[in-house]
Formats: sequence, C-alpha cells, structure tokens
Amino acid sequence: MDVTAIDAFSGSQLLQAEPDASSFPSGGMRTTFEARGYTVWDTTSPMFIQEGPHGTSVLYIPSVFISYNGDALDEKTVLLRSTSQIAKSACELLSLIEPVPVGAQPKTSHVFTTLGTEQEYFLIDRSLYSLRPDLKHTGRTLIGNLPPKHQQMEDHYFGRIPSKVLATMSEAELELFRLGVPVKTRHNEVAPQQFELAPIFEEASLAVDHNLLTMDVLSKVAHKNKLKVLFHEKPFKGVNGSGKHCNWSMSTDRGENLLDPTVKPETNYRFLLVLVAILHAVHQHGALLRTSIASSSNEHRLGAQEAPPVILSCFLGEHLTEVLDSIEEGRPIRNFSVPEIQTIKLGGTALDVKVASLPTISRDLTDRNRTSPFAFTGNKFEFRAVGSKQSPAFPVTILNAAVASALQDVTQALRAQMGEKPYPSDADKVAVIKKFIASTKPIRFEGDGYSDAWIQEAEKRGLPNIKTCPDAFAQLLTPEHSTMLTKLGIFTQSELQARHLILNERYAKDLAAEAATLRTLLASQILPSAFEYRGSLASTVQLLNGIEGEANSPELSALKALTPVVKELQDSIADLDHVLHHLHTLSDDPCEEARYAGEYILGSMNKARVVADKIELLLSDKYYPIPRYSELLWF
Ligand code: ADP
Ligand code: MG
Repeated sequence: MDVTAIDAFSGSQLLQAEPDASSFPSGGMRTTFEARGYTVWDTTSPMFIQEGPHGTSVLYIPSVFISYNGDALDEKTVLLRSTSQIAKSACELLSLIEPVPVGAQPKTSHVFTTLGTEQEYFLIDRSLYSLRPDLKHTGRTLIGNLPPKHQQMEDHYFGRIPSKVLATMSEAELELFRLGVPVKTRHNEVAPQQFELAPIFEEASLAVDHNLLTMDVLSKVAHKNKLKVLFHEKPFKGVNGSGKHCNWSMSTDRGENLLDPTVKPETNYRFLLVLVAILHAVHQHGALLRTSIASSSNEHRLGAQEAPPVILSCFLGEHLTEVLDSIEEGRPIRNFSVPEIQTIKLGGTALDVKVASLPTISRDLTDRNRTSPFAFTGNKFEFRAVGSKQSPAFPVTILNAAVASALQDVTQALRAQMGEKPYPSDADKVAVIKKFIASTKPIRFEGDGYSDAWIQEAEKRGLPNIKTCPDAFAQLLTPEHSTMLTKLGIFTQSELQARHLILNERYAKDLAAEAATLRTLLASQILPSAFEYRGSLASTVQLLNGIEGEANSPELSALKALTPVVKELQDSIADLDHVLHHLHTLSDDPCEEARYAGEYILGSMNKARVVADKIELLLSDKYYPIPRYSELLWF
C-alpha cells in the first residue's frame, strides 16, 4: 500500500510564528482580546537542538517577540535595536578619525558589542530545598539564622570544589559545549556553596542567549544530580549574594577591541575618545543604568557591603587615571609605559632571599576594585551591579543606548572642533578628550565604594543615589533618559510606559508573593511547632509541680522565655495579613502598589523575620519544622 504524508512543513514556518501574546505582561500596550503576537528568528543567534522526552529532539529558535503592532514585548528586540545603534554611532566616530583616501571604503564597516557574563549561583541539596517553602516559592530563605561557621574564615574561595558540585559543573559544561556555549571558567565563590561559571565573551546578543541557556542547563543538570541551583541574588541572609558581572566592550569587524589601551594609551586617541564617551554615558545616564539592575531581589544585595552600591561610578585604575589627569593638566605622563615596572620579582625579597624556582611575573597595569559598580578591567568594563537572576539583556541594552548616545556627542564635539578640515588633527582630538575628561570627572571614583564617606562624597558631586526600586523605575520616564532612548529608536514612548508599569507590577507582585509565602510558613509550620513545644513545656511544668512541688523548674523559665515570643509571632502574622489585605484594596495602580509594597510589605516581612529567627533559637530540632541554614549550607 502506498503511504503518503498529508502534512507539509515549510522552512518559513521556522522564521516566523504566531503564539498567543495575551497572557504575557504587556504593561497596557494591548487589551486582553488583542492577542496576536509574532516570534521572528533572530538570525544572529543560531538555532539549537536539545533532547526532548522519550528520545526525541527539540529544535529551539532564538526569537524576538513582538505584538501585532510591532511593539517589543521581549528583551531581545530592544537589545538588537541598541546593538545596531551603537554600531552606527561607533562607525561614525571611527570614520572621522580613521582617514582613508577619497572614494575608498571606511576602514571599519561594523562595530559590535562584546559581552562575557560571569554567572554566580548557589547549589544546595535538593531534598532539603524541597522542605523549604520559602526557597521553593520565592527563591530565597525568608527566615533563618546563620550557622556558627559560614564565610567568616574566608576559606571557601580557594577551597576544594565538593565532588557532587564538580560532577554537576562538568556535566553542565559538556552539555553547554554541545550547544555551542563557550564556557571556560569555573570556581568557588566567597559564600559556602556558592560558585561561578564564566564563558568566553561573544557578540552581546548571542552572549545573552547563551547566558540564559547556561542557567537553564545548570538547573537541569543540578536536578539530575539531586541538587538545586539558586540564582536568586540573596538566597541567604548574612552571607554573600550572587551577581552576574557583565564584562562589556566594543570590537570592530577586524577584531580590534576598542577598549584595548595598547602600550601607550596616552597617544591612542581612538581608545581615549571611546573611553571618554563611556564615562560621558555613565555620567549622563547613570540613573538609568541603576534602573536596569533594579529588582526586589537584587535590592537585598546592592550596597550591602558585598556588592557595589546603587550610586553609579566608574573605576579606571591608577594607570588610566594618570593618563587622563596628565591630559587634563596638560603635562607629561608619569613614567607608566615602561614595561619593566610592570613586573613583580617573586625570586627576591627585601632581604634578598631568592626563591630561584619562582619566575618573575608580569603585573597588570591596574589593580582591581571590587567595590566599584562599573570598573575598567584591562581592556573592557565590568558592570558588576547586575543581578545573578536577571537576564543581562536589559542592562546591556541600556548601556549600549547610553554609549551610543555619548559616542554621538563626542563625534559632534569633534566636528565642531575640527571646523572645515576633512579630518580632525591630533590637537583637535586632544581638545575634545580634555573637554570630556573635565565634564565627566564626578563619575570617576577610585576609592572604597562600600564606605559611608563615598555616599557623602557622591552627594556632594551631585551623583544620584536612588535607594528604592520604584524610584529607580521612574527614571525610565524622566525626559533626560526617555528622550535619549526614543531618539535613538531603542524604545518607543509607549514601550517605555509599558515597561515602567511592568517593572512596578512585577516588583509589587514579587513582594506580595514573598509576604504570602512567609505568612503561610509562619502560620502553618513555625507557630504550630512553637505551640507544640510550649504545650510540652507546660505539661512538664505541671507534672513536676504535682510530683516534686517544684515551682521554679528550668522548664518553667524556658516556658516564660518562649511565651512572649510566640505572642509576637502571632502578632507578626496578623500584621502580614493586614498589609497584604491593604495591598489588595489599592486601586489597581501598579506604581501605587509598588510603593506600598516597598515600604510596608517589606517592613512587615523584616519584622516578622526577626521574631521567627528568635523562635528558631528556642526550638530544638525535634520541633523546628524546616531545614536550618546549618543544614542547607553544608554538604
Ligand atoms: P574575573 O573573575 O577575574 O573578572 P573571569 O575570567 O571570571 O574574570 O571573567 C572575565 C569575563 O570577561 C570572561 O567572560 C571573559 O571572556 C570576558 N571578557 C574578556 N575580554 C572581553 C571583552 N573584550 N569584551 C567582553 N568581555 C570580555
Ligand atoms: Mg570571575
């Protein structure tokens, strides 16, 4: 019998598809009945195949997601728009400073942004994880005291990688190699059970896709190995949280890194013009960069003495600082470019005790500053304030946009400076570089970003210190930032308004979900356990009283200590109920809800936690119903 297929499958179906866009946050860009949305393959990001169920294979197509009207509903569309704009602005600047014979093609025809994401994460035992409703529903522990030994010895970073973790890492790396993700670095991080994975950098939008894929693969492989990976920025109170350092630079189509200072940065005008453009970008739009990293989860980490503060500043290091200072002051540069001083002699000390087996090593031009949110690290900037859980797409979009706009300002200044000449002279370039060095000075900070002195200094310099998420979100709509984003065509005004609403809505919902989870955990597990223990103490007291006539038993004093805390816990639950109820009565305005949540829900959760943590210290393991930090943070 002849059998013929009756279904046809055309290649164009791979390029474009039409999923339902109605159950997706739209920030009011559509009403529920306007459901049409389109996915379109981003052809710069290769399709890939992953194993599906029962030996099947599933083809994945990295796509943008746009509405029927062409509005960006996703993170990728705006990222791609920003990479086109930065390419255009950078090429314009380069065509001005890279002279070619009349009629010839410009030297650089394309510039792309490069991105390497250092992904930090925790790995914990999956069976213990499943006993913690707070971790399961919110990604972080909402109660819990630190174990006696956590990270205070500072011995985890250089410690051995536990074998279960190593197995997970290796398997995940192999899987990622198969998918074409160039993972390279793995190591322990500062906190117990905290680790990091970093790939070799790639073109930014591909690097973003690969970061998301990395998180997905890590989750799956951890699950197989009976572990759970936590990407939340602050899963445990009191130990370091996780970030996603975004190493960022620009490269020409000839593979030249525009942030490579080369041996003589002081006369590398292309490098200096790009550098001052980036400083100018952070100076103009630092507040918007702050927006791009704002979330209820990252707030627990930023500025908490373990991660960069919310004040955006740039660290350049001793060498580049001297380069910029010497240009600004119009004086020769201190002796920096001599290669010999860049070595450390390991074979000799002050006492001249030689260790002949150790060679002389070369030193980097700058030391590192871990407290800076935006640090120059040799030949790239490292945006260190990005959260571990978030997609790097939004922060990179904003960074690209701000730099694209700044490159245009620099090009314009250069044109004004050179007048009628076809190309700017070196003196013209220096004049423009000098102008931007002077105007961007407030943004440069080399000191300790964790110190209080910096907060005061930043205030004097007029740098924004945006403390709350709703205030950070509001930056999207302020004219100084929104005009830049809309003029460059990276967002439309309605996309900005929608995003602003979505961010507020998400923030309020995240906090509401946390408060509801905490309320249930306290009411259904912690309080009943405390009652049980209290009941047992009371019976013992009564028993002892009857048998021995002992009026002042140790059990009685334990009971007396416990009772007021149990009462406090009950009050805390009532308070959580109250704020949650109030949140639901608000007028459906996401901004109002976010403000209320940031102030009252967060406050109420913090108060409840203090009480729950007191109870934990009073309950024996027999009564404490969930795994403690001491179990979670120990393999
Ligand atoms: P560290 O932890 O010391 O900062 P890592 O090696 O963990 O360094 O991470 C550095 C990241 O920076 C890597 O992903 C690397 O590929 C990336 N990187 C290096 N050069 C560039 C560049 N020119 N542009 C973007 N990223 C880069
Ligand atoms: Mg690293």
